[in-house]
Amino acid sequence: MAVQRTFSIIKPDATKRNLTGAITAKFEEAGLRVVASKRIRMTMEQAQTFYAVHKDRPFFGELCEFMISEPIVVQVLEGEDAIAKNREVMGATNPADAAEGTIRKEFALSIGENSVHGSDGPDTAAEEIAYFFSGLEIVG
Ligand code: ADP
Ligand code: MG
Repeated sequence: MAVQRTFSIIKPDATKRNLTGAITAKFEEAGLRVVASKRIRMTMEQAQTFYAVHKDRPFFGELCEFMISEPIVVQVLEGEDAIAKNREVMGATNPADAAEGTIRKEFALSIGENSVHGSDGPDTAAEEIAYFFSGLEIVG
């Protein structure tokens, strides 16, 4: 498997509880390199665009309100098989189903406030990275 880049968000529930470093350490321990990182406050328009794939789901409004409720940290992670590896380190969407040692098992509060976002495939990874970062901001 080749070296890939994936897009990650440390979500509001985690930045609020000062878990940026603890979550970043989980990525680094798994062999993922942080090649871009910035702390931002998402706008409602950005949240709705970013999560447009979920716009017809019952939790869409709640999800967007949550994502703008506190600052987030957006990151680009790089490594061998980075997209799948990141999903593995994140754990299942619902922390009740997440495996031991995963970020969501250790830190998530609920299925909605679940501490991290990670791209689910090569196409979404490329789109999501380009949505938040210019090429100059990514230093591998
Ligand atoms: P993942 O983040 O694991 O890729 P999804 O893409 O299915 O999960 O969902 C995006 C985000 O929407 C989740 O991470 C979570 O914050 C929120 N979400 C998903 N399902 C629910 C739900 N049933 N109730 C509330 N929020 C949800
Ligand atoms: Mg998803």
